[in-house]
Parts: sequence; C-alpha cells; structure tokens
Amino acid sequence: IRFADLGLAPEILRALNDQGYVHPTPIQAEAIPIVLKGIDLMGAAQTGTGKTAGFSLPIIQLLLAHASTSASPARHPVRALILTPTRELADQVAANVKAYCRHTPLRSLVVFGGMDMAPQTAALRNGVEIVIATPGRLLDHVQQKTINLSQTQILVMDEADRMLDMGFLPDLQRIINLLPKKRQNLMFSATFSTEIKKLAATFLKDPVTIEV
Ligand code: AMP
Repeated sequence: IRFADLGLAPEILRALNDQGYVHPTPIQAEAIPIVLKGIDLMGAAQTGTGKTAGFSLPIIQLLLAHASTSASPARHPVRALILTPTRELADQVAANVKAYCRHTPLRSLVVFGGMDMAPQTAALRNGVEIVIATPGRLLDHVQQKTINLSQTQILVMDEADRMLDMGFLPDLQRIINLLPKKRQNLMFSATFSTEIKKLAATFLKDPVTIEV
C-alpha cells in the first residue's frame, strides 16, 4: 500500500514526496481511512510508529475539503486542535504539520509556555486553522481571548497517558468544555491502562480502537 492509495489530496502527496515517504506505516494505513470518515479514534501507539502523520494527514485533508478562500482572519478560525503534554512534543508535531501543509493554504501555530505570547497572538489574529498546544498555555490564550475554540471541529489528544501523569486532566476537561459538542476526537496513548480507557470513554464518541 502507498500513500497515493489512501485517497489523499495531491498537495498532501506532494508534501509526502518532499519528505521521501511513499509507504504508510501500519498505524497510518489503519488510522488515515478512519479519520477521513470522521469517526472518533483511540490509538494505542508508541512514538516512532508514525502516529503523528497518522492523525495530521487526514486532518489536513478534512480541513482542505472545507477550506475557505477568504483572506479575512474571521474566516480562518482554529479548526483543529492538537494537545500534547510537553513543549518538545508540541514543537515536533508542529514541525511535521507544517511540512505536510506546505503546499496548502492551511496555517498552523505552535503554542506552549515559556514562549513570548505576543507573536503567538499576532499569528492568531491573522488566522490559523491548526493549533498545536500544551494545555496550560492554550488556556492562557483562552483567558486573554486571543484564541477562540468555538469553531474547532477536530481535537487530538497526543500522548494522553503522559498528559494524565502530568496532572493535565482538569485542564483537558476545561478545554473540552470550550469546544463545540459536535466534533471529532482522536486520542493517542502509548499505554492502554484503565485510566486511559476511562478517559476515552469520557471524551470519545463511539471510537474505533487501533493498536500497533
Ligand atoms: P512519529 O511516531 O510520528 O514520531 O514518527 C516517527 C518518525 O518516522 C518521524 O521521524 C517521521 O518523520 C517518520 N515517518 C513517519 N511516517 C513515515 C513514513 N510513512 N515513512 C517513513 N518515515 C516516516
């Protein structure tokens, strides 16, 4: 199986070609069709399996299918939110998303604590479709009204087990309460503990589970 067989848009295939990726990894081959259908997903996968492209590529495709051609920032609300436990992971995921979006009009932004908020705020004002964030800094932006999540249709919780370990559950709950009720939820976790299953049962709707 090749990426070209998964029904991805030409501009996404071009970005994959730039990266030298031809064949999806097992989690990508499983996750991409599920996410494209708009179904909630619980993925039990370690780092190194290619899970980042597994969720990023179909999200980009879904956003492209309903892309706005307007230059007005009001027409570019945050439509996908990717939450990660650490700055390092946020940065890594953001670099991937940016590479996969390079031939599309979609804009992405990474948001984590310790960064100056002003450039983030300026970018948000200009319009950003995909935000990659750690929970605390995201809530800082919400509080300052520099980020609006009322149009966010897709939520990804990456390394959910680490987010729980780091005590982010109350922040996750707060963030989820800000999102539209009708949305797609994707959760990835290296472990598949009772706590993670409980989190999935709370936040996901009829999810498909994949394990690699
Ligand atoms: P991840 O598990 O998402 O952190 O990805 C692990 C590494 O594999 C990253 O360096 C990716 O850039 C790379 N990668 C992801 N998907 C593919 C693919 N289909 N073919 C080759 N390399 C890939």
